[in-house]
Amino acid sequence: MTDIKKQLLSVADSCVKCGICAPHCPTYTHTQNENESPRGRIALIQAWAGGNLPISDNLLNHIDSCLLCRACEKACPAVVPYGKLIDDFRAEIHDEMPTKNSVKMIKSISENKRIQGFIKSGLRFYQTNHLQKTARFLHLPKLLGLNELERLVPNFKEKEPLKNYYATKNEVKGDVGLFVGCMGELFDFETVNAAIHVLTHVGFNVHLPENQTCCGALALHDGDKNSAIKLAIQNELAFSAENLQAIVTIASGCGVTLREYSAKNFTTKVLDISHFLSQTDFDFSTLKPFSGNVRLHSPCSLKNGLKTDKSVLKVLQQIPEIQISALPETQQCCGAAGSYSLRHEEMAKTLLNELLTTALEKPTDYLVSSNIGCALHIAAGLRERSENVEVIHPIVLISRCLK
Ligand code: SF4
Ligand code: SF4
Repeated sequence: MTDIKKQLLSVADSCVKCGICAPHCPTYTHTQNENESPRGRIALIQAWAGGNLPISDNLLNHIDSCLLCRACEKACPAVVPYGKLIDDFRAEIHDEMPTKNSVKMIKSISENKRIQGFIKSGLRFYQTNHLQKTARFLHLPKLLGLNELERLVPNFKEKEPLKNYYATKNEVKGDVGLFVGCMGELFDFETVNAAIHVLTHVGFNVHLPENQTCCGALALHDGDKNSAIKLAIQNELAFSAENLQAIVTIASGCGVTLREYSAKNFTTKVLDISHFLSQTDFDFSTLKPFSGNVRLHSPCSLKNGLKTDKSVLKVLQQIPEIQISALPETQQCCGAAGSYSLRHEEMAKTLLNELLTTALEKPTDYLVSSNIGCALHIAAGLRERSENVEVIHPIVLISRCLK
């Protein structure tokens, strides 16, 4: 037996098969199939690693259909490191797992700044010359197998290129690094600018190292461990140059991946921006009042990974006159889950519809989410329902309230 198989087996053996995780699992909830439950998937890996189950399409599909939302990990009394087990198994069988074109495309975009530059110009052209409307009318994205990717694309907004350093104009409280991620600059420029605005206002000098790159989550969850390690090393180096007191993230999906890099002097500094702000002495009750009904979505990466979801509510509740209510604790994954919505459209849409139905039970003007992947997926669902709800990051809301 190989060392990797021994390692997988020893982790899988730590599962006592109690089933406490099952009702927390979105795929099990919807299929009632044991193979689509955390316990079932662990048993499949256990059987494969023990030499009792060959690789088959069925086995691969059951493992691939896991969202990696880690709701099971949070519920597990035996503390089985489920996410790592699945990542390690996917890495081991990577060559046997087919990767969809849309996933390959999004991975290439995420890892290559030159391609991101082309995408920026292409998006501007695609959206401002009515090509998008024509392509959608002719069903071209569907014919090219890119429908799920195309529906996520937000409206292009002209923007200034980012600088590498923004100094605070207020009393200096320290220096922080801002992790923008591969999609931030491309699809969520408002959040990047809001983060810089708020952090400098609170008193921090903000560094955006030029060599920072994708966090590697897409590669890691696709089983492409080599690419994930390469990206991790590049980010560790990029942020090591300055004496930073924190590495602040604006996408919880990236944050949880960065927290699990191997360099401890890097990982211990990684904090989600709302959690970071909740630890400063900034008085949020001095902000301008905010009007409108706000629904708060807690991404799985924030709730089950970073476990700092409460900080978002704590910070936002201090804004004068804000009407905010969080989605129920029991709300399951929205279905975005990295590249999941591109690989499992049906399950992703079922989960999204459930979330939107719950969210819209109350009057909602703004839906706040701390993860770009969830925000794009949720915004696409709201557009498809013709709902007039703006999906924004909590830091954008705070930035709009600065006097
Ligand atoms: S809760 Fe933990 S120990 Fe129990 S079945 Fe699920 S993974 Fe295994
Ligand atoms: S990570 Fe999420 S989808 Fe996967 S088994 Fe656990 S609860 Fe289910």
